[in-house]
Amino acid sequence: MVEWPVVGHQWAVELLQNSIQHTTLRHAYLFVGAAQLGKSTLARSFAQSLLCAEAVTERPCGNCRSCRLLRAGSHPDFSLLPPTDRDGQPDRINGLHRSEQAADIIRQALLHPMEARYKVFLIQDAHRANASFANKLLKTLEEPPAHVIICLTAQDRSILLPTIVSRCQLLEMRPLADQTIEDALREQWGAPPGQAAVLARLANGRLGWAVEQLHEPEPLAERNQQLAQLQELSRSDRVARLAFAQKLAGARNQNRLSSLLTLWTGWWRDVMLAQSGCLEQCANVDLLDTLADTARTFRPADVQSYLRTLRRIEGYLQHTVNTGLALDVLLLQMPRPRV
Ligand SMILES: [Zn+2]
Repeated sequence: MVEWPVVGHQWAVELLQNSIQHTTLRHAYLFVGAAQLGKSTLARSFAQSLLCAEAVTERPCGNCRSCRLLRAGSHPDFSLLPPTDRDGQPDRINGLHRSEQAADIIRQALLHPMEARYKVFLIQDAHRANASFANKLLKTLEEPPAHVIICLTAQDRSILLPTIVSRCQLLEMRPLADQTIEDALREQWGAPPGQAAVLARLANGRLGWAVEQLHEPEPLAERNQQLAQLQELSRSDRVARLAFAQKLAGARNQNRLSSLLTLWTGWWRDVMLAQSGCLEQCANVDLLDTLADTARTFRPADVQSYLRTLRRIEGYLQHTVNTGLALDVLLLQMPRPRV
């Protein structure tokens, strides 16, 4: 088999390659794991291999008409669906209303493929789909036309309808090792070694996050700004904290919110490590002096209790619609420096 353009997740690549080679394909695949872990990248490689015109062992070839169309985003047998948001944002995607999107999938699924043998649908962040979308999707999964393959990505399968999960081949993807990310950043994205090492430590196993940083005009600038803001908030009074919570809730951007919480959790975990004398295990390797200072400024019991709060709130935000209340709690319970 040719190598897929996927870093890590080798077991999943092999599973998918085998199912193509032995035509033991399922109608639906569910890629589960944290944001920016590589779920969509893997699903796209799978789709490309399904649609590619080359011999099975040579897919994806990258050169055939099918591969070129897919890369250009214009393959008539491949549909990519952006997230549909539970909070109602954004309301219209690609000019389609959310409930129309599901109807559109059903309609398209019934049509025969135009170029390839299959029609492949990639539905990203299915955990954020609303109930109407999920129910329509379920109908398609219950009686899928023979040529239809649906790939779903989700951060947490417990939020999906169990009837959807049970109809899918489940691929639970794990965070990548720091070293795997560091090597990929240097070898495939040409990152300077020092930068690759820092980004790999901060990535929490999410290659997509690290690559996104590389594409920023100034890598880590946003993270540095967000950490400075965090320091400031921990010294702020109730009013300023609640104002910040309100601003976050008003932005209604689930992905940004979830990456901010990941950043905060990583920071406070490092503070806890520094307080336990394990500074060398910290992820924020470029900010060890600040971490050592912060560790001295806060009570260890407060930091540990706040880490539990962060975990709890992250869970709430996946399930609850009352984002505002959860964010108020998150901000108000942030530790204050000892006096
Ligand atoms: Zn091809």
